Amino acid sequence: MLRSLVGSEMCIRDRNKIDKSIKLFEEAQLLMPGGVNSPVRAFKNIGGNPIFFEKASGAYLYDADGNEYIDYIGSWGPMIMGHSHPKIVDAIKKQAELGTSYGAPTGIESEVAVLIKKCLPSIEKIRMVNSGTEATMSSIRLARGYTNRDKIIKFDGCYHGHVDSLLIKAGSGVLTFGLPDSPGIPKDLAKHTLSCPFNNKEEFLKVFESVKDDLAAVIVEPIAGNMGFVPGDIDFLKLLREVTTANGSILIFDEVMSGFRVSLGGAQEVFGIIPDLTALGKVIGGGLPVGAFGGKQEIMDQLAPLGPVYQAGTLSGNPLAMAAGSALLNLIIDENPYEKLESKASSLLSGMQHIMDSAGIPFSSNQIGGMFGFFFSETLPKNIDDVTQTNDETFIRFLNACIGNGIYFAPSKYEAGFISTKHTDLEIEKTLTIINLSLIHISEPTRLLSISYAVFCL
Ligand code: PMP
Repeated sequence: MLRSLVGSEMCIRDRNKIDKSIKLFEEAQLLMPGGVNSPVRAFKNIGGNPIFFEKASGAYLYDADGNEYIDYIGSWGPMIMGHSHPKIVDAIKKQAELGTSYGAPTGIESEVAVLIKKCLPSIEKIRMVNSGTEATMSSIRLARGYTNRDKIIKFDGCYHGHVDSLLIKAGSGVLTFGLPDSPGIPKDLAKHTLSCPFNNKEEFLKVFESVKDDLAAVIVEPIAGNMGFVPGDIDFLKLLREVTTANGSILIFDEVMSGFRVSLGGAQEVFGIIPDLTALGKVIGGGLPVGAFGGKQEIMDQLAPLGPVYQAGTLSGNPLAMAAGSALLNLIIDENPYEKLESKASSLLSGMQHIMDSAGIPFSSNQIGGMFGFFFSETLPKNIDDVTQTNDETFIRFLNACIGNGIYFAPSKYEAGFISTKHTDLEIEKTLTIINLSLIHISEPTRLLSISYAVFCL
């Protein structure tokens, strides 16, 4: 079966030619720091040349050299229904003809707010912003303003955007580049943020006790997507809820990644835990730049112009982003695709597990809904230290083999994977075939002899 999918003439050594991407990257490096507008895109830690894309459709991306890729990033979340979904494209076109921005209110903002509230009942009131970073930054300010306290507790490896107060022991991009704390963040501000190990109740309680009188908020990715894919333990998350409630501190769930990805109601629905505030991003703009934060009315009403906590945005609630978001939210509310997504992710991951087991490569994986992660380690990581210890060399070899042969997984072991309704059995089988054929490039040189010739010469 594998042979019929890829064609018997296929040879895994025929890596995609990416001459145009190489040229575009050279040019971009003269114009933008590192040649990119967001660090993880530079492929620095896997040592390759970033792929420059020109178009996308369904489960596929197409690069500047005309190569096709099965996409398991999905713009880091929003492409739940696949790229260029006709209903989303139509909604954007229709709105573009009516105007791209008015700098004034529109009815579509309320339309999107109603759809979000329907899925996430913890959100009584919401404010639209332009990115996940803005959503978490404003949530923190609101929590501080509402409680009249300064301290924030976050968790090692949870990334909440490049907010000064939150770029402390943050995951993914920061870890990928070995910058645990970024220069440029005043020490006087950073001292108000305390970071504890994720999924560790005892350590959290110790830190909590030391700052509880001045603790404004605890912010967490309830399902972390920035140290690979690492769900919070339910007992750990329940403890955060209990102690913040008792202490009058705000519990913020950062669902920029997990929102509308793991289920219609996000991680809070999966765990049955109601946060005070939720930060959202990506998905609610259908792939256009957007974010939002919302929660208890009493807290949200502290925002200007009703309350004293200032927050604003010229392009917030932008009609193009709202039109795209409304189209996507309506599609996922109608279809509720999460069981389907989970079963697709499960076919992919169990296939990968089988291939790795047969080659004796330590491998583990996890998934909820359309979000997943895999690690080159025997057991699943519970926190960022565990993820750091997973095998880097195997990951880098794996990634380069995949990307060079048209399978686009996230280029860092600290990032999650995403699957769409447009990934069919065909794409999953193609992916597994490529991985199988690539084993010779993935395995440690010392293991190669033990891999049967038959495995990669199908
Ligand atoms: N929070 C989480 C959980 C994220 O994953 C991200 C970005 N991946 C952000 C916040 C920041 O969002 P943005 O990149 O849109 O600013």
